Formats: sequence, structure tokens, C-alpha cells
Amino acid sequence: MTLDILNLPSYRVLQVEDADGDYQIKAETVSPPERCIHCGSDALVGFGRRENWIRDLPIHGKRVGIAIDTRRFRCKTCGKTFYEPLPEVDPKRSMTARLKEWLEKESLRHSFTHLADETGVGNSTIRMVFDDYADRLRDNLRFETPEVLGIDEIHLIRRPRAVFTNIPSCYVVEMLPDRNKTTVARFLSDLPDKGRIRCVAIDMWRPYQEAVREALPGVPVVVDKFHVVKMANAALDSLRKAVGGTLSPERRRSLTRSRHVLLKRFSDLSEIQRKRLAEWSRDFPVLAKAHVAKERFYDIYEAPSRSEAEKRYREWDEGLDPEVRTTFGPLLTAFQNWEGPILAYFDHRVTNACTESANNLIRAVQRMGRGYSFDVLRARILFVRHGAHKMKPFRRFGKRDLVAEEGMGYGLPSTEIEPEEISLGVDTSTLLDLIERGEV
Ligand SMILES: [Zn+2]
Repeated sequence: MTLDILNLPSYRVLQVEDADGDYQIKAETVSPPERCIHCGSDALVGFGRRENWIRDLPIHGKRVGIAIDTRRFRCKTCGKTFYEPLPEVDPKRSMTARLKEWLEKESLRHSFTHLADETGVGNSTIRMVFDDYADRLRDNLRFETPEVLGIDEIHLIRRPRAVFTNIPSCYVVEMLPDRNKTTVARFLSDLPDKGRIRCVAIDMWRPYQEAVREALPGVPVVVDKFHVVKMANAALDSLRKAVGGTLSPERRRSLTRSRHVLLKRFSDLSEIQRKRLAEWSRDFPVLAKAHVAKERFYDIYEAPSRSEAEKRYREWDEGLDPEVRTTFGPLLTAFQNWEGPILAYFDHRVTNACTESANNLIRAVQRMGRGYSFDVLRARILFVRHGAHKMKPFRRFGKRDLVAEEGMGYGLPSTEIEPEEISLGVDTSTLLDLIERGEV
């Protein structure tokens, strides 16, 4: 008796061959059809056979191909011929249904080449399985419209792409192929439950503001705080570089090493760092002036109210030393152009808290993005969590009562998708973990 190596109940294994590290298995169906698939008559006669080559899940780390000895019948009643249907096989892809399910899940987390090596299935077939799966996920998953929506961009495959986040939950909700006004406005218009959106946090990119105004009339736009204070740091840092350019290489390196001392908030500096800051301030008064301006700009954001913030900004503007005014030129211009949305922060207290993890995500996706299309990366970012699905605990025989619900390992995952599953999106930190572990 041949051991049932396949564990496919509808098939009988006839022969197992280990061919250069791959399993080649001959099999046939256990119960061939008794009735004609055309007319239902049971007057069937054999009418030859054909071998169907089907890929299956790897066994013992070896790739598996099954040669299914497929019977052909002729019906004596209607005269038609037919091949017996092959249960548990996906005819479109010449693979077992379980291999297809496994590839769907794995293709969200591993490269297509890797999966091709593992299974012997061609790259392009894996790509098609992935595409079908991503389409199905797209049709069945609906991301919850966030109360506070963040719009940012990531630079991916040579182009900036608009990324939408659920700010309270720090989830990525969508990534679009570009960040043009029409693209963004169309996405916003199509959102369900638009009434949920309380406000939208953006960076200083005019098309975002215009798209929100058009698609979500009356919804306030807040310029993300970090994008504003970042400009104060950038101003100070550009001056640090200019000053460094006038110094001997050794002094310049020393100033570069003090970069964080200048950029960090004064209240967060240690005694030693404050001493170093004092030394640089003494040697370069212009740096001291820019440092004070940077610190005072941050203070604006600690204002308890919008009117107080507005007052602090006027004072900051008027008190700016002429010697560093040009240095802070870009920030002054940005404030002039975006004053309303910048000050709206003090009405809504909304900030894109995900910026940090989103930025790390950008870098990670960029690293693993080589060789993949935007659509593949987007599907991976949005669906990997849903593709992973709930895992069943793996239990040892006879120890069922001893092993806790979250078992010691995992069995084969189920790949069911609940229709219209409502989801928050993808948790950026979870996704980042997956990427760092090379699982996306
Ligand atoms: Zn028939």
C-alpha cells in the first residue's frame, strides 16, 4: 500500500518518485463519475485517458507535481464524450485549490520569484494568482472612513503618491498613484459616510487643500504641526551649514556633531549639551539668534488658544532679528500662505501622529519596492493584514487540554474573506514590523 502522501481524500496515490529533489506523484480519482455530465445517463463506457500535470503544495520542503491519470468517458445515451472532473483542482491555474490559496496569502508577504522557486509554479502564474486575489480583496474590503483623515505623500517608484491615514488609529487607508488634485478629489468624493470626517490634516500642498474644499465642502483643513515646525529646524540647520562652510574642516566637523544640540528643544538638553550650545552661541552670535528664533517658534505651538497663538506669531515675526530674517524666509512665506490652516490646529488640536511611523514605512517600502509595480506595492500595503487572516492553533495529539488557545505553532491558515468586512486599514507599525522582518 502506498502511503497517502498527498492527503487529498478524492485521490488515490499510485506512485511517488523523488526526482532530483522534487516529488513527482502519479494519482487518480477515487470515485470516477457514474453519470454523464451532459444528460445524467449512467450508460458510460471508458474512452481513453490523459495525464493532467497539476502543481501542489510543497511536501517535506520539496516541490510537488501530480500527474493525474484522468479518465475520459463516452455516453451511450447522448453520444457525447467528457473528461472526469478533477475535484480540489483549480482548472484555470493547473494547481490544487489548496496551493492557490496558499500562494494568495504568501504572495502578499513574499516575492513572486521566491514563491516560484518554492513551488515550481511560473512567475507569471503567481502574478496572476496575486492579481485575482487582490481584486477580490478590493471588492470585499471596505475601509472605515476616519473621523480625522491625514493626507501625506510617499515617494515610491520615482513619483510622489498620496497616502491617506486614519489619524486617531494610525492606519493607512489608501495609497493613490499620484497626488494630483483630481485624483485626490475623486477619492475623497467616493468615500462612504463622508459626514463622519471631522477634519483633514495635510502638509502644505495646495492641491490637497483644493481637493478637500471641492470634495468635502465645509470640512476644516489643518496643516500638520510637524510640517510647520520642521521648517524652523530646517532654517536653523541651513544656517549651521553656512557657518560651518566658513570654518576649518576640524571645527566644521565639530559643529556638525553639535547639530542635534541646536535642533533639539532646549528643555530636553542635558547639562553638557547646554554647555556646548553656549559655546557655539558665544563663538557665533548669528547661530545663537537663529536658535532663539527656532525655540520661540516652537513656543507658538504651546499656546493655549488660537488667539494666543496668533499673538505669539505676530510677536515672533516682529521680534525676528534682521540678521536671521532671510534664514527663516521660507517659514515666513509658508505662514503667510497657510495662516488659516496652520492656526486651525489650535481649534482642532489634530496632528498627524503617524508621521514618524509613516516615514519609516516609506523607507521600508522603498527598500523592498524594487522590481514591483505600484499596484503590487499598494495591494501589499493595504491588504497584507487581511491576507494573513486568523491562524488556527496547532495542537499536539493527546495534549489537547494542556495547550492553551493560542497554541505553540500554527496550522494551515484559513483564507476566507468575510464579505464587506469593515476595517480601519493597515496599522503602520504592524506593517513596518512585517517589512522589517522581510515578510512583506
Ligand atoms: Zn449523456
